[in-house]
Amino acid sequence: MRIDQFIYHSSQLIESSKAGDSARLDAELLLAQVLNKSRSYFYSHPEYLLSDKQLEMAQRLVELRCQGRPIAYLQGQKEFWSLSLAVNEGVLIPRPETEMLVEFALRLDLPANASVVDLGTGSGAIALALASEKKSWQITAVEYIDAALKVAKHNIETAAGKDFSALHLIQANWLSAFARHSFDLVIANPPYIDYHDPHLKQGDVRFEPSTALVSNEQGLADIKSIALQSTHCLRPGGYLIIEHGCDQSQQVKEILNNNDFIEVQCHRDLSDNFRFVSAIKK
Ligand code: GLN
Repeated sequence: MRIDQFIYHSSQLIESSKAGDSARLDAELLLAQVLNKSRSYFYSHPEYLLSDKQLEMAQRLVELRCQGRPIAYLQGQKEFWSLSLAVNEGVLIPRPETEMLVEFALRLDLPANASVVDLGTGSGAIALALASEKKSWQITAVEYIDAALKVAKHNIETAAGKDFSALHLIQANWLSAFARHSFDLVIANPPYIDYHDPHLKQGDVRFEPSTALVSNEQGLADIKSIALQSTHCLRPGGYLIIEHGCDQSQQVKEILNNNDFIEVQCHRDLSDNFRFVSAIKK
């Protein structure tokens, strides 16, 4: 089969499966992965004939996409903050809204050698993005789940050649491993979705690890633990930044106000939903 025929047929299959709203792009990305070529190659070589092996591999990926499997998992990578991160079913797929937490953190008035921790790092997205920008920060990435720890380790090792600052990866349950006043900044994208949220049965999240998505107490249990532990582990004047669900900003604000934090501020994401909160430890 020719490249242009493959893209045409696969786009139609993906479109009719309702697996997403970018069928043609998805088909091109999956073929690009199999051929190890950029998408522009398809436009200069529409007549290229796929080998049986290439066709079989590409058709398998399209089939999985039609079943709803996220494109990032099929490609095994996701762009985040100009970094290409390896991802698999063991980690949450990094989202553009989480880049806003990074952007906010980078603008804080922190010491040159700030001690920073990214909780539940998953693919390592937040920690690596910060490390790529702030060479003198001392950054610790914390992950509890074995499968995710493996992905984070891989991404950190791959990035190490890029002159990133010292970035340590530790297996721990939130801040339980750290002493009082250890950090200038605690940043986290924790699980915050309620078990019964119908959103969990739609789109990419169906294939993402529930440990990265779902939390008790209407999705607030982990945010509460992090807030409480941060009061101990942050230095006075240190910052806390936490991502949360778009309907949780009032509750999260209350949790922080009740836990020794001041200047609690809610921030909106690109869709104009409240998406993360920042606060200062008294
Ligand atoms: N932002 C993700 C979503 O809404 C959830 C991520 C999380 O729970 N931390 O799909």
